[in-house]
Amino acid sequence: MAPTPLIRVTVWSEFRHEKKNPKVAALYPAGMHRAIADALGHHADLVVRTATLDEPEHGLTVEALEQTDVLVWWGHMAHHEVTDEIVARVRARVLEGMGLIVLHSGHYSKIFKSLMGDTCSLTWREATDKERLWVVCPSHPIARGLGAYFELPAEEMYGEPFGIPTPDELIFISWFTGGEVFRSGATWRRGHGKIFYFRPGHETYPTYHHPQVQQVIANGVRWAHSGLCIPDSCLNMKPLEPLPADPDATLRPTEGHR
Ligand code: ZN
Repeated sequence: MAPTPLIRVTVWSEFRHEKKNPKVAALYPAGMHRAIADALGHHADLVVRTATLDEPEHGLTVEALEQTDVLVWWGHMAHHEVTDEIVARVRARVLEGMGLIVLHSGHYSKIFKSLMGDTCSLTWREATDKERLWVVCPSHPIARGLGAYFELPAEEMYGEPFGIPTPDELIFISWFTGGEVFRSGATWRRGHGKIFYFRPGHETYPTYHHPQVQQVIANGVRWAHSGLCIPDSCLNMKPLEPLPADPDATLRPTEGHR
């Protein structure tokens, strides 16, 4: 039997709250990206690296992205500092087939908004609600190993309406103590790439240490991995079979679009 190919994962984070807020630093001493990467690193089929905003080219050089099968994204206070050039580069890789996992406040990142083509707005409250995530598509690979639901004892609330295009698949719906509900796990395809948005992960809570959150992210990485890299093209096609003579052919322009 052929060995299972390794999945190359890059976990990207802006890595700012950890440097400014002692509460966040206590939860994630080496950064949220490190906690997420360490959890993924326990899976033998995943090869994990990290990248952060303040690295040259945000750690997302052409070479780094070429060697990334799935990109995990956490951003919040510094969305505007991500350059448009890097956003365009990541977007092009997604369209070629790279998987993208967008976490929590990444709903307002440039890359997510660009790929969704929508406002990506929602309602929110920082008040330590309990969050119960209901699995609404138990047969989906991203729900593997989970029960009917799981709970996070303390989280920020995100509520509907969530300004996203109707998801291809809805995996989780969250309920919060305050009574709101939210589409907290959803997938889309853009080009050849697969995208998974997963809601939990406010920086002042230990969410990325939670075993079922870690399981969902690992499941999401495996689901989003296509192993494909299909560059964009818009070819002028020669006919495969002889065409009937066309008396008007000489009247048509010889150059198509591109
Ligand atoms: Zn948050």
